[in-house]
Amino acid sequence: MIIVLEQNATKEQTDHIVEALEAKGVQVHYSKGVDKTILGLIGNKQTLLQIPVQRFAGVEKVVHVSEPFKLASRSFHPEPSRISVRGIEIGNGSPVMMAGPCSVESREQILQSAHAVKKAGGHILRGGAFKPRSSPYSFQGLGEEGLKLLAEAREETGLPIISEVMDPENLDLVAEYVDILQLGARNMQNFHLLKKIGRTNKPVMLKRGLSATIEEWLMSAEYILSEGNPNVILCERGIRTFETHTRNTLDLSAVPIIKHLSHLPIIVDPSHGTGVCRYVAPMSRAAIAAGADGLMVEIHPKPEEALSDGPQSLTLENFHGLMDDLASLQVMGFSNR
Ligand code: PEP
Ligand code: MN
Repeated sequence: MIIVLEQNATKEQTDHIVEALEAKGVQVHYSKGVDKTILGLIGNKQTLLQIPVQRFAGVEKVVHVSEPFKLASRSFHPEPSRISVRGIEIGNGSPVMMAGPCSVESREQILQSAHAVKKAGGHILRGGAFKPRSSPYSFQGLGEEGLKLLAEAREETGLPIISEVMDPENLDLVAEYVDILQLGARNMQNFHLLKKIGRTNKPVMLKRGLSATIEEWLMSAEYILSEGNPNVILCERGIRTFETHTRNTLDLSAVPIIKHLSHLPIIVDPSHGTGVCRYVAPMSRAAIAAGADGLMVEIHPKPEEALSDGPQSLTLENFHGLMDDLASLQVMGFSNR
């Protein structure tokens, strides 16, 4: 349930409403927008229905929210959320580019990639240190050594870094190094990990599960938000369908749907979304045209030698070309390099 306050509602009236509701065990989330001030209420449905909220002075109207997600919903928070990471803002209308290799493999590989991201005008460096691989025999990542190398690359280039955290036991370690935690598709419903991340204040990019509906995805975001961490970024990375020409089907309709349902920023990952380097540039352009707040793209100095996801990785030159392309389309954020 949400309360929309009258434009001239006083602080005393607002405080009175909040105190009265909290006394009945209702959680109240205050959100002041440009046009409206809203109180989002979370509590037992029966309790909420029994309180004559409409009768409080200062209340313009009461709206029932039918979606199961509350804190993630746009009705609770009409203004888009902006997430700040070392001076870069995600969700302010100017798309950001996150790029880097699938896995951190060596010092030379990550530093070379980081310099290429910086030079092409990218904003954030990615690199996996703990890798969720389908096969236990595949390269599993360098672990903490990979995080140290990412931190060194940040030191050299000034680019903030993002890397995946795979299990709750490693959260403190990963959070110590990275600027943004990545919660991978396979862990989208790892509720223990979601809650633990929710108890930190670290920005987190929550990837859509392999077969998750948009509602399930937003409910996972709700787990993080409801523990107190407001810094959630969503990432569409393709879903399982019957199509086999691509590794996944990149669901670009998720972008306007998320924009409609939620205030959280959304990034699109056309690399995992297609699995094929040839399709990464067109789907990047399409994602930006659909209104995405940014992209995450895998790149590699030598894709043919990559220890993971070589087929979908752009060369450093391809990446520079993509950035030129986006700049020529006058995409804000990519245009003044
Ligand atoms: C990745 O970003 O390297 C990755 C493993 O992504 P996803 O969780 O989307 O498969
Ligand atoms: Mn990958």
